[in-house]
Amino acid sequence: MGKHEFLTSKAIANRIKAKGLQKLRWYCQMCQKQCRDENGFKCHCMSESHQRQMQIFGQAPDRVVEGFSEEFLEAFLTLLRRAHRHSRIAATVVYNEFIADRHHVHMNSTRWATPPSLSSS
Ligand SMILES: [Zn+2]
Repeated sequence: MGKHEFLTSKAIANRIKAKGLQKLRWYCQMCQKQCRDENGFKCHCMSESHQRQMQIFGQAPDRVVEGFSEEFLEAFLTLLRRAHRHSRIAATVVYNEFIADRHHVHMNSTRWATPPSLSSS
C-alpha cells in the first residue's frame, strides 16, 4: 500500500462501509482514542494514560495545537489533491471524506476549532 493510498475516495468509502462512522465528539485527540459515548469518554478522561497526555499538553498547549493544525492542513490538502485534482468541489464534501478516516486529526484539536458556544451538538 502506497503512503497515501488510504486517502483515496475508494479506500475511504470502503472504510465507511467496514466500520461505520463514529461520533466525532467522543474522540480524544491527545490519545488518539475513539470512545463510544459520553460515559466511555468520561471514563477515558479519568484514566492514567490520558492524564499523562494532558500533562504533556499542559506544558506546551500552543505548540500541540499548532502541531495538530499543521497535520490537519497537510492531510486535508493531500486528500484534495489526490481525490479532486481536476474538479471544483465544495469544502464540506472534502471534509466529509476527510473525517471518514477514523484516525484523522479532528478539527476540534486545531486552531480552527469551533468555539463551544457556536457548536450545535
Ligand atoms: Zn485521552
